[in-house]
Amino acid sequence: MTEHAASGDLPIGRGLRGRCPRCGEGRLYQGFLGLRPRCEHCGLDYGFADAGDGPAVFVILIGGFIVVFAALIAEFLYQPPYWVHAALWIPLILLVTLAPLRLIKGLLIALQYHHRAQEGRLEFRDDA
Ligand SMILES: [Zn+2]
Repeated sequence: MTEHAASGDLPIGRGLRGRCPRCGEGRLYQGFLGLRPRCEHCGLDYGFADAGDGPAVFVILIGGFIVVFAALIAEFLYQPPYWVHAALWIPLILLVTLAPLRLIKGLLIALQYHHRAQEGRLEFRDDA
């Protein structure tokens, strides 16, 4: 079978757990969001991994929707004073942005590895 069946999980699960997309054993991160140079278990070079702004975009769109929607609902239903808005939404903003950032970055790197995604390159031919 494939390498996925042997280890019993998929690259998506490996990414969400912050593990190496190839073996699922080695850790992906060094610190909160920094990547290790390579997998400590199978030696996969993480140089290919470049999630770019992808994780931040997903966090902004999803987290922004949650916080703005909740703030609008609270304002329309209760008209609380501004300090209540600050007390409610600042912690929620931190929760919905910082918590999923590692998960989404790991997921995007695992998908990048699985689909062999990389920058586009020009191909030159000699027969022209
Ligand atoms: Zn590995």
